[in-house]
Amino acid sequence: RASEQLASFAGRGALSDGTVVPLLANVGTGDDARAAAEAGAEGVGLLRTEFCFLGRDSEPTVEEQADAYTEVFEAFPGRKVVVRTLDAGADKPLPFLTDATEPNPALGVRGYRTDWTTPGVLERQLEAIAVAKQRSTADVWVMAPMIATVGEAARFHDLVVAAGLKVSGVMVETPAAAITAEQILERVDFVSLGTNDLTQYTMAADRMLGSLANLNSPWQPAVLRMIQATARGAAQASERGGEHKNVGVCGEAAADPALAVVLVGLGVDTLSMSPRSLAAVSAVLARVDAAEARRLAELALHATSAQEAKEAVRAELPVLADLG
Ligand code: PEP
Ligand code: MG
Repeated sequence: RASEQLASFAGRGALSDGTVVPLLANVGTGDDARAAAEAGAEGVGLLRTEFCFLGRDSEPTVEEQADAYTEVFEAFPGRKVVVRTLDAGADKPLPFLTDATEPNPALGVRGYRTDWTTPGVLERQLEAIAVAKQRSTADVWVMAPMIATVGEAARFHDLVVAAGLKVSGVMVETPAAAITAEQILERVDFVSLGTNDLTQYTMAADRMLGSLANLNSPWQPAVLRMIQATARGAAQASERGGEHKNVGVCGEAAADPALAVVLVGLGVDTLSMSPRSLAAVSAVLARVDAAEARRLAELALHATSAQEAKEAVRAELPVLADLG
């Protein structure tokens, strides 16, 4: 029964046909990381490093940063930990990086773009990540938030390599990144879909506005098409490069068990979520095979609204009722 599976989640996400779907955790601190490991997460799919900087009015030193990252890496020896470089701005302002007077902060200097106005912070952060990596056995991947062009991805990759780190990637949070994923993945090793921002920018609906919650749903067929475009671009890049390019999801979408099935059906390889969602997501994934996931993805893609997509998919997953 699904309720038994819920209690017995042992940290190995898979479909009923054995297709492996690693289930990772979103964390912000060492405490979060230890709790995630306890909950069975297979690794970290998103370390929100801003959490190490929040409440600071100056940049933490390389040593302070390295200590914070080391704590996270040590919770996952030998496991994958995806570190996101600073995502300051918009909903996450940091006084030493962002300009509070911008008229449209969500469309402003945020995420990777802060490197243009405050150079050096990103290089020092990569240095700190490299120091922390040396102190642990974690498999450290590094990615940049709020990428919109192939050139940004290429430059980020160069900075990662210059810091002595090996695996570089970018978040797909803008429609621009989604529809150029193939070209982006000629420069970096992986992408991770930030569906919170990808939804906001695809639907042109501020993620902070409760009054736009209906537009701001990752079930919107337009958002699902962006995810599909990303996965297709990655498949093309993988084929041409002769090496698999991982497509992850680290936005809230991955924590919705029915949507998780759709994401896998669209071609997503790994899912990262708040640890409390791991058990329910794994229980539902274990009830479908890859062909069924693809069929449910098609169903959602062809719906005419978020509501219709969600209802159509949920109706095909009776296991959801057991989960309450
Ligand atoms: C996202 O945008 O989906 C994401 C994971 O990043 P954040 O929520 O931190 O902006
Ligand atoms: Mg984001």
